[in-house]
Amino acid sequence: MANTSELRQDLVSGDWVVIAPKRAQRPDQFKRKEKRKIAPIKGCLFEDPQKNGNGDPILVYPDLKKWKIQIIPNKYPVLAHRNIRPRINLKGIYNFENGEGFHDIVITRNHYKNFAHLDKKTALELFKIFQKREKMVAKNKYLKYFFIFHNWGQKAGASIFHPHYQILSLPIIPPDVARSLEGSARFYKSHKKCVHCEMEEFELESKKRLVYKNKDAIVFTPFASKEPFELRVFPRKHLPYFENTDEKTLKGIIDALQKSLLKLEKNLGDPDYIFFIHTAPLQNKKKYTHYHWHIEIQPKIRFFGGFEVGTGIDITMVKPEQAAKILRG
Ligand SMILES: [Zn+2]
Ligand SMILES: [Zn+2]
Repeated sequence: MANTSELRQDLVSGDWVVIAPKRAQRPDQFKRKEKRKIAPIKGCLFEDPQKNGNGDPILVYPDLKKWKIQIIPNKYPVLAHRNIRPRINLKGIYNFENGEGFHDIVITRNHYKNFAHLDKKTALELFKIFQKREKMVAKNKYLKYFFIFHNWGQKAGASIFHPHYQILSLPIIPPDVARSLEGSARFYKSHKKCVHCEMEEFELESKKRLVYKNKDAIVFTPFASKEPFELRVFPRKHLPYFENTDEKTLKGIIDALQKSLLKLEKNLGDPDYIFFIHTAPLQNKKKYTHYHWHIEIQPKIRFFGGFEVGTGIDITMVKPEQAAKILRG
């Protein structure tokens, strides 16, 4: 029954999706047809962030004169950069907290090279600067979560072409992360095993959804994918914290992430995409030893309709097994 619909449940979050291959005419209908628009270097705000009104960077590699990577505060932050104190307030029957935290922009020097095309050394330094920033932010005990993400292309929400990454340091644990943490804790309680280690073992053996592996990382399309061609990159070692990951594992992850993005570029006509890191929260470090950090990649090739928005159930029109086959090439 290759083309029948299936309701599938995510093992960790408990979310349901409909896998409905009949909704798509052919999997290659998702290929991007038009060429990516490359914004000119002239007028690019990220060529010289200091000249464009940003102060000294929070962190820079290797130094400001010859910078290859720099972290600056976002000029248009989601959260106010102020001294953070916990304040739970009430407005009538409603709860609110002041929107305080940090919203950083991380810029890599080359205007044209997105993460897939960064040389290995710069990509490693980028991950190390993320780790360094996480350790700085963790000292503020009121901040609970460090969220790193990358939007590539306009459909993925990037307003500036020049490759950049964003980090939100939040005073709350985001709901999707909270559910992932709870699901992982629940599985650990009943099986005495890490749910993600189990999943990796299963995917390596079945090979149906496996897209790439090396000694330190594995990439597969999730059984209950929310987006067609969604991918997840996991360290093969059980590691709750991104910031405590050793260099050898980071190199394996970077290789796997770059290979995955290149596969999307090659097989889907250079689609826009997002990727983000799910890691254990900043505080209560002992509470989350069951968690296994990872990267999720979602190509942005479809729109949400009323069903998805109103029910929280996503409709995925390419079977994850078929997506993996196409991406393996
Ligand atoms: Zn630029
Ligand atoms: Zn694990």
